[in-house]
Amino acid sequence: MQPWHDPDLEEIRENYLQFAEKLNGDTPKRDLEGEFSPERWKRVADSGFLRLLMPNSLGGNEVPVTHLVAAMEGLGEGCRDGGFNYALCNQICGIQNTINMFGSDQLKAEYLPDLMSGKSMAAYGFTENTSGSDAYSMETNAIADGDDFILNGTKQYITNAPYANLAIVFAKTTKTRSPFSLTAFLVDMDWDGASHGQEFDKMGLRTVRMGELIFDNVRVPKSNILGVKGGGLRVLTESTLWERAILTATALGPMARGLKSCIERAKSRTQFDKPIGSFQQISSKIANMIQRYKLSRLVIYDMASRLGNGTSLQPHAQDAAIAKIFVTDNFIKFELDAMQIFGVRGYLLESFHQQDLRDSLSFSIWAGTSETLRNTVAKLAGLPVE
Ligand SMILES: Cc1cc2nc3c(=O)[nH]c(=O)nc-3n(C[C@H](O)[C@H](O)[C@H](O)COP(=O)(O)OP(=O)(O)OC[C@H]3O[C@@H](n4cnc5c(N)ncnc54)[C@H](O)[C@@H]3O)c2cc1C
Repeated sequence: MQPWHDPDLEEIRENYLQFAEKLNGDTPKRDLEGEFSPERWKRVADSGFLRLLMPNSLGGNEVPVTHLVAAMEGLGEGCRDGGFNYALCNQICGIQNTINMFGSDQLKAEYLPDLMSGKSMAAYGFTENTSGSDAYSMETNAIADGDDFILNGTKQYITNAPYANLAIVFAKTTKTRSPFSLTAFLVDMDWDGASHGQEFDKMGLRTVRMGELIFDNVRVPKSNILGVKGGGLRVLTESTLWERAILTATALGPMARGLKSCIERAKSRTQFDKPIGSFQQISSKIANMIQRYKLSRLVIYDMASRLGNGTSLQPHAQDAAIAKIFVTDNFIKFELDAMQIFGVRGYLLESFHQQDLRDSLSFSIWAGTSETLRNTVAKLAGLPVE
């Protein structure tokens, strides 16, 4: 049976939807104020959400990746807090999964249980002032010193940075622009020289905060390397591939919720003595939205069904890039239509449609911009793209 028809997945989605509806409360206010909710994080962690993909041996549930996607769908449909949902799912795909794939047994045992219980929260430190799409232009560096590395540099635009107590940090361990010049470290933000810097206010995903991580001569034990010295590019590639393939599922909940709301509105709102849904320009928007939602679901479940827990996505690199581009383009167009169907009421700050639209725009930037992902697709088709 194809995963998108599996009744077990439907049950998981429904259970998470019902749980997530109780989380809404003050979302519009916190969206306006750009405020993160640690209490909400703890409640979701207590539900077992952060354990889903992790190994049984460390207290996780080790469920198939399709189950995680069903849970993400339900969470996103029930809870209108897009920034919060993004941060949670980022924690699973970008942080926990990366530690599970590349951490030593000692690192996994030391850090994963607290991440799963919600006691600890981590950030993913890659981007810098000089380095966005171009990984090799980063300035953060780590120099070997006995059994340690000395880490220096500043990471910017990092999700969860203002309150993360742990971070995956990429640094140059050789000065060259080569595939072996980067190394990934797991850094405790309580260590001497590690600190939280400036915060950045943003237009969408406002309920998760973004900021800087500063490293000033931080002594990081060699045992805190993820993978091997010089293997940072592999860690980066694998974690961003997981984000492209699976974190993208955070679009499905808002689309499912938006569709219900727009169909209801198109039937109930009358103008010129007719429901607006009787006007072909509105009904075709809804038909397009249904296609965008259903095809995005197929693409994401297809990616999820190819993955085991901790499996490499490298053989699926082109499809992961296509999945992210496809869902991003469709999610943004979907949200533009949803807002338009509601007219001025969709434009008001109290409307969840304008919030979902602002949130959707981030998709074309994180984990590979839509432009660089198109480069990837073309490159993997054999074109001489730079
Ligand atoms: C909501 C959100 C959360 C984020 N969270 C994190 C996080 O937790 N950790 C982290 O490390 N980073 C995070 N980022 C940062 C993100 O990873 C970067 O923004 C991304 O890598 C792009 O880098 P840049 O913004 O510097 O853009 P640039 O690389 O400067 O690109 C600017 C423009 O040029 C285009 N461009 C660049 N190179 C090429 C090329 N070769 N061909 C064609 N076009 C090109 C880009 O597509 C883009 O349109 C987050 C970003 C967002 C929006």
